[in-house]
Amino acid sequence: MNDIHVTEPFLPPLEDFLPSLQKIWHSRRLTNGGPFHEQFEKELAEYLGVTHLSLFANGTLALITALQALRVTGEVITTPYSFAATAHSLLWNGLQPVFVDIDPLSRNINPDKIEEAITPKTTAILPVHCYGIPCDFQRIGEIADTYGLKVIYDAAHAFGVTQNGQSILVNGDLSVLSFHATKVFNTFEGGAIICPDAKIKQRIDYLKNFGFAGETTVVAPGINGKMNEFSAALGLLQLKHIDEALRLRAEVFRHYAERLKEADSIEMAAIPADTAWNYSYCPIYVKPEHPVSRDELYARMKEKNIHPRRYFYPLISDFPMYRAHASAAVGNLRHARAVSDRILCLPIYPSLKPEEVDTICDLIQE
Ligand SMILES: *Cc1c(COP(=O)(O)O)cnc(C)c1O
Repeated sequence: MNDIHVTEPFLPPLEDFLPSLQKIWHSRRLTNGGPFHEQFEKELAEYLGVTHLSLFANGTLALITALQALRVTGEVITTPYSFAATAHSLLWNGLQPVFVDIDPLSRNINPDKIEEAITPKTTAILPVHCYGIPCDFQRIGEIADTYGLKVIYDAAHAFGVTQNGQSILVNGDLSVLSFHATKVFNTFEGGAIICPDAKIKQRIDYLKNFGFAGETTVVAPGINGKMNEFSAALGLLQLKHIDEALRLRAEVFRHYAERLKEADSIEMAAIPADTAWNYSYCPIYVKPEHPVSRDELYARMKEKNIHPRRYFYPLISDFPMYRAHASAAVGNLRHARAVSDRILCLPIYPSLKPEEVDTICDLIQE
């Protein structure tokens, strides 16, 4: 059997991409906001149901720039249960991450803990829609309003997710997407910041292009965060296929759910009823009473050339550049640690075959 990875990049037929490639080649416009960039920005905003967005070379540069755009200072409250880039974007801005525990069911930041962690130095909250499951933005928004904090959502997992028919990307001050090859929607590498108005988009557009506001005018110490024309052209093409890809992902997830519904010692992700989810990940929680531990199960799958991932293990707060922080203390992050020790993300992607899902479920139930 071929190796089964946790995900496979979703790509359109190669011949569909060749005409765009030829256009870029002949036009000699490779980057710097060319026609594909402009078109993709427009069509993506339409698809996502948002008014303004700014494309980026990747999600990490978008996160770093989002913090710059809002002039965030001091301490930022965030979750330890995420990919390294979430907290790294704070260090790259000279900001102090303050970790708070997660809700064990949603695996998102626990709003009650946010309030306890606010100090006079706190200026922002950086939550993550973990696995694309929406944060409690009602509560987070109320806390932010009460204490005058900015909210930037790391929405790297949340492409296309809606709640009560509305995109969840319009919540908070800014939301950041990633279009990395391993994500639900990819542009090889890429990302975006969702902005509420044209003014903040303008500032973000300056910041991602070295701060240039004209040929000779530089208004901010910007970075090079621009998406190139090849990625934008791929993005445009991906938009034509994304609904089908999401449908196929949902089918894979339902197959897992059907197969594992009798397994009392395995818990699948709980999707809120009002949410149209994107099936970006398939996390299972291996309960203590399961005959084998998460790591044992992981090792057994590896032996059979199946490569699930322990997202997210270790916690960000356990990395050497964070573990000395007071908020990284074990007792402060009890739920995050418990989930991190028992979670396993199973392979899920549009072309994963039902037989492959069966093989994986057989191994889990063995
Ligand atoms: C993938 C990811 C990022 C980083 O995005 P890149 O496009 O890879 O730079 C940030 N946060 C989370 C939660 C991610 O999963």
